[in-house]
This record gives sequence, C-alpha cells and structure tokens, in this order.
Amino acid sequence: QGAISFKDVHFSYDPARPILKGISFEVPAGKTVAVVGPSGAGKSTLSRLLYRFYDIQSGSVSVDGQDIRTVTQKSLRSVIGMVPQDTVLFNDTVAYNIRYGRPSATDAEVKAAAEIAQIAHFIDLLPEGFDTKVGERGLKLSGGEKQRVAIARTVLKAPPILILDEATSALDTTTERDIQTALDVVSKNRTTLVIAHRLSTVIGADEIIVLKSGEIAERGTHTTLLQKN
Ligand code: ADP
Ligand code: ADP
Repeated sequence: QGAISFKDVHFSYDPARPILKGISFEVPAGKTVAVVGPSGAGKSTLSRLLYRFYDIQSGSVSVDGQDIRTVTQKSLRSVIGMVPQDTVLFNDTVAYNIRYGRPSATDAEVKAAAEIAQIAHFIDLLPEGFDTKVGERGLKLSGGEKQRVAIARTVLKAPPILILDEATSALDTTTERDIQTALDVVSKNRTTLVIAHRLSTVIGADEIIVLKSGEIAERGTHTTLLQKN
C-alpha cells in the first residue's frame, strides 16, 4: 500500500525561476527511494508537494494511482508521516505533540514511541521554556530534540507512507546513529521518500535519485552511483 508516482512535475515559487523541471519517478509500495543532491536543488520542494504544502502546478503526483489533487489534504495526510527539517510544535506537552499523530493512542504507546526517539525523559514538559504560565515545567527544546519529537509522532502514527526530509540533520552523530536505526525499523515495509544531502546516509535505499537544479541528473543504487562517480 502507498505507491507514489511523480509524473512530469514542474514547479516554481516565482514564474521567472523554475525550481522543478519535469520530475518523474516512482516509489513502489513498501520501497524506499532517496533523493539526494546539493542544497537548493529542489529536494524539499518535491517532498512538500507530496504532503500538499503547495498545490501541484503542472504534471501530477499520485498515491496508489489516485491523483492527490482529488483527495482532501486531511485524508492525504492521514496516510503520510512527515519528519520535516524544521519541526514546529504545539505549545502543549511533548506527550501531546507526540499523540497528535494518533489521538487514540494510550499513554503506554506514547511512552514507547518516545523511548524509540530517546525523549521519554521529557514527555511531560512543554517544548518552549519561556512560557510564563507554566513556570518551571517549561523546557526549551533544541532543533534536534524537536526533530526527535517529530520522529516519535511518526513512530506512533505508523502510516503507510513516510517522508523523511533530512530527518536526522539536526542531531549529533551519536544520536543520529541511534535515531537512524529507529527510522530504519519504522521505514521497513513502508513506502518511504528520503531526502538527504549525502549519498553515504542512504546506503539502504532501493533507488537513489540525484537531483541537480530541479532535474534528475542521475539515478541508481548506492553501488552503481559510487561506481560512476
Ligand atoms: P533543497 O531541499 O534541495 O535544498 P529546496 O526545495 O528547499 O531545495 O529549494 C529549492 C529552491 O527553491 C531554492 O533556491 C530555495 O531558495 C527556493 N525556495 C524554497 N522554498 C521557497 C519558498 N517557500 N519561497 C520561495 N523560494 C523557495
Ligand atoms: P489539517 O492540517 O488538514 O487540519 P491535521 O492537522 O488533522 O490536518 O493533520 C492530519 C494528519 O497530518 C495528522 O495525522 C497529523 O499527524 C499529520 N500532520 C499534520 N501536520 C504535520 C506535521 N507538520 N508533521 C507531521 N505530521 C503532520
């Protein structure tokens, strides 16, 4: 479940400056495709189109053969878990933020997801330390900690499709390794679109697409791309 298809997708924020110039690729159900390439290539834009942050301008994006323009944003997002580069959290407890992915989850399930993301020790605290109403229950989370909240939310939600947009970029090396292991477990058998900077972080992907200036410059597996470069 959850096959993704991009067909001849063009996109620009400013008509004078095309960002995506005819992108076509598929993520077969249960497989992982990684999009790598230099900063500014259009990788995040691609992932945000799938999550319907922006409207499709030309070409089509479909999930299980259904054009995403024909479903509501809410129903589309109910099958997709997104770990964005910059996570914005609600001004409520970390547990609330994790549970947002699946409101019916029990406390034990929230705790288990928090443990996988290594944030179980602060789930009862509030993410922004400056909240005067709550005094010392506040906690100013770093970018990496917020990213781990987003990961816990996605672990709990366990959707058929995952978008990991540089999901571990804000983490230190040791945490990154642990979280990457957790993400590998979550993405196994789920359709996964991974956005990454470096080829070395997406060794296990079924296919790697190299995006340069809004075009697919190369595609292959980690092994075939290494041989060519
Ligand atoms: P990548 O993820 O590969 O670094 P992005 O998709 O974030 O690339 O950005 C591609 C280009 O689009 C960049 O030049 C960036 O400055 C521009 N861009 C990204 N988001 C916006 C936006 N919301 N409004 C205008 N330009 C944007
Ligand atoms: P809407 O934004 O259309 O009101 P909801 O807020 O109900 O939709 O979210 C729908 C689904 O999308 C929820 O299951 C939620 O987990 C997920 N979601 C919404 N925003 C994000 C986000 N920034 N990161 C990860 N998941 C999100």
